[in-house]
Order: sequence, then structure tokens, then C-alpha cells
Amino acid sequence: MELLKVTHLHKEFGQNTVLNDINLSVEKGEVVVIIGPSGCGKSTFLRCLNGLEEIQGGVITISGLPVEAGKRDITKLRQKIGMVFQSYELFPHKTVLENIILAPTKVQKRDKEEATKEAIELLDKVGLVDKKDYYPRQLSGGQKQRVAIVRALLMHPEVILFDEVTAALDPEMVHEVLETMIALAKAGSTMLIVTHEMAFAKAIADRIIFIDKGDIVEETRDVKEFFIEPKTERAKKFLKTFA
Ligand code: ADP
Ligand code: MG
Repeated sequence: MELLKVTHLHKEFGQNTVLNDINLSVEKGEVVVIIGPSGCGKSTFLRCLNGLEEIQGGVITISGLPVEAGKRDITKLRQKIGMVFQSYELFPHKTVLENIILAPTKVQKRDKEEATKEAIELLDKVGLVDKKDYYPRQLSGGQKQRVAIVRALLMHPEVILFDEVTAALDPEMVHEVLETMIALAKAGSTMLIVTHEMAFAKAIADRIIFIDKGDIVEETRDVKEFFIEPKTERAKKFLKTFA
């Protein structure tokens, strides 16, 4: 089942075209990893999908509901697409639990008790239930990032976007966050992941999308082969920078 479809997505900032003509279709339960050089448009792409950036051309369709360029009806996107950022974006003056249940209760108008119950179950799954009354500053980077993931999950998104979620973490904390994402993938979540962790990309991806200068240059479900011998020169050159 096709969950997310992007056709002819075009995005520019003033004169600067950042995404040229992006076409992508994502199946339910699929894990798509997006890689590419710094500045190629990966974050902008995820932000367009989540309605954080206006698009100048194309259509984004999420479970059959289209959002077109020029139409600002982004609430549909926001409700169906969750996002986790490099910088956590937790509210400093709210506890872990308060951070997590804020949007479900205020935006989705869910019952507080019910949302709290589910929040605690999810915190338990990521090993943080004992931290539910802590404030973000009392947590490590890896713990904050796992809280941010739980916060996204509690909104019951159909797709979750991850933008370099381990980039700001100390190396010893990267693992716990990647493990959490691998568990989500195994549980059947539909995920779009931007990462510079190539071993992780190889392990988690059903499909690899390589973007360069605002275009999808290479796309494959043969993930193993991509990391051994990509088809395009540009992808080869990019992968060499990690060798
Ligand atoms: P990546 O995530 O692949 O490193 P980005 O999507 O962050 O790349 O950026 C792609 C291009 O878009 C860059 O040239 C960047 O300078 C530009 N860009 C990103 N955000 C903005 C913005 N808000 N205003 C103007 N230009 C932007
Ligand atoms: Mg980025």
C-alpha cells in the first residue's frame, strides 16, 4: 500500500532552487534512508514533507490526501507526519512526560489520562520510564533524543521523518538512539531517515535514496549492492568520503 507519494516536488529559496523535481513513493512499513552531501537539500525535503516549508511546485499525497503547491493546508500533513530533529526541540521548563503529552492533549484533544498511560508505555519501551518527571537538562543527549522520538510516536503518525538525529550526540550515545530506531523499523513503522551513519543506513534501509544538488541521483532497493558498488559516479565519490 502506497502511503506517501511525492510528485514533481519543487522548492526554491528566492533564486536558489534547492529541490528540482523530486518524485518518490513510499509504501506502508518501508524504511527509506536519504543520503547525500551537506547542502544537497535533505533537510529541506523532510521539512517540505512535514509542511514546515512551503513548496513552489508539485504535490505531496499522504494516505490519499493531496497537498499541492500554493495551498497552505498543511494541518493534514502535520497530523500524519511526525518529525524528529537533530536538536531535540524539547521544552526546557516541562518535564519529560509533560513534553510528550503536550501535543496529543492540546492539538489532538486526546484524554490526558489515556495519553499519559500510552506515554508511560512508550517511555518504558525505550528504557526511560524512570525519567518521566525529569527536566530535559537532567538528561543526556541520547536520552533527550529518545524522549523526542517517543513524543513523535505518541501522535500516531503514519510516517516518521528523522533528520540526522544522532549528529549532535557524543559517540557513546549514538548507539542507543539507533537501536531505538531499529526497533521501530522492526515493529513496522514507516520511516524516512536522513543520516550520515553509513553502517546504520545499510542495516536499517529497505531503500536508499541518494540526493545531490536537489535531485535524486540514485535510488535502489538493493541496499547491499549500493554500498559495495553504487551505479553513479557521484554516489561513488560520496561514499568514498566515508571510507
Ligand atoms: P542538507 O540538509 O542536505 O545539508 P539543506 O536542506 O539544509 O541541506 O539545505 C539545502 C540548501 O538550501 C542549502 O543551500 C541551504 O543554504 C539552503 N537553505 C536551507 N534553508 C534555507 C532557508 N530557510 N533560507 C534560504 N536558504 C535555505
Ligand atoms: Mg540537513
